[in-house]
Amino acid sequence: MARNIPDISKLPGVTIGDEPAEKSFVLTKLEAVANWGRKYSLWPYPFGTACCGIEMMAMLGPRYDIARYGAELVRFSPRQADMMIVAGTITMKMAPIIKKIYDQMAEPKWVISMGVCASSGGFYTNYCTLQGVDQVIPVDVYVPGCPPHPEAVLRSVLLLQEKIAQGSNFERGRSHVFAEELKDLLQAPQGNPAEKLHQIEKGGRS
Ligand code: SF4
Repeated sequence: MARNIPDISKLPGVTIGDEPAEKSFVLTKLEAVANWGRKYSLWPYPFGTACCGIEMMAMLGPRYDIARYGAELVRFSPRQADMMIVAGTITMKMAPIIKKIYDQMAEPKWVISMGVCASSGGFYTNYCTLQGVDQVIPVDVYVPGCPPHPEAVLRSVLLLQEKIAQGSNFERGRSHVFAEELKDLLQAPQGNPAEKLHQIEKGGRS
């Protein structure tokens, strides 16, 4: 399949003169060039926990081939990744861990929430399931479905690339309701973070 070759003339802020090539000039901003490079070299961190994780693997494999969009270099260290894909059900016990992993990723970094479980808890409206990963970390693109097709996740990567090209001035998903509380919980010397998190959520929703 043909590779997705970027057209430099479509970079934001780029002007290409209509002189012959040897006399042409390009005007742009450093940030635009950096974002152009970032969007075509995303390094995914796969946070797969359930059935959605299987669909994510299909998307990463040769059949759907995320490599066409420059995002094939899966990293299992958050310090080497800039795009977290949260795929599957997230429990309360996982919430402090996912927040810690997100914090370990270097800036700039982005998050794709894959499937209804990751995005809203799905049909697991119970005491132990986080009702959306965006309660602990910011989300850039939500992918609906149970599970979403691999093509839908590829589409979310393309949407994310558009956001990255716009620079840092874009809206991110729901505010991280628990982010500050979680920071305190993770630093607390004793107690069960998952139980405390559940109490905070109940308090926030009553
Ligand atoms: S959204 Fe559906 S397929 Fe994905 S983890 Fe939840 S139950 Fe499984």
